[in-house]
Amino acid sequence: MTFFSELGETITGTGKEVSQKVKGFTEIAKLNLEVKKKEDLIQKQYMEIGKQYYELHKQDAEPFFEEIGLITEAFGEIEKLKDEISRKKGERKCPSCGASIDQDALFCKRCGAKCEPAPEQAEEEAEAAAPAEALEEAFEEEALTEEASAEGTPAEEGEGETGE
Ligand SMILES: [Zn+2]
Repeated sequence: MTFFSELGETITGTGKEVSQKVKGFTEIAKLNLEVKKKEDLIQKQYMEIGKQYYELHKQDAEPFFEEIGLITEAFGEIEKLKDEISRKKGERKCPSCGASIDQDALFCKRCGAKCEPAPEQAEEEAEAAAPAEALEEAFEEEALTEEASAEGTPAEEGEGETGE
């Protein structure tokens, strides 16, 4: 055997080994992928069972799993957050079907229910205006009382008679 033929054999041998290893890796990767696929499938079934169990038992007074309460709570929070997002986007919810409608829409686009224009916004404005108005009125009353007591007669009567 010459040096070159020996070298050739070694290279071929190493090449075979490498290709076999690669083949082995590929097969392992394929098998791992199969395992992953089955695990994903199981996860989905678990989730589906969980959903169905939740739907069956969400009304229970004392649910067997405390997770039921956590899910219901989270659903409630999601609703609140969505409402807040709708308000920030200038949208309202239909009082009948819950579809999002424009702030100034009179009727729901989905179910046709009558919608009072922007009641929430009006309420907010009224709330904001109320303290200022109350404060002004309080000041006016105070001023009138001071005036009246200084002159000794009700301020309104005096002004009305002298004017006409
Ligand atoms: Zn509607």
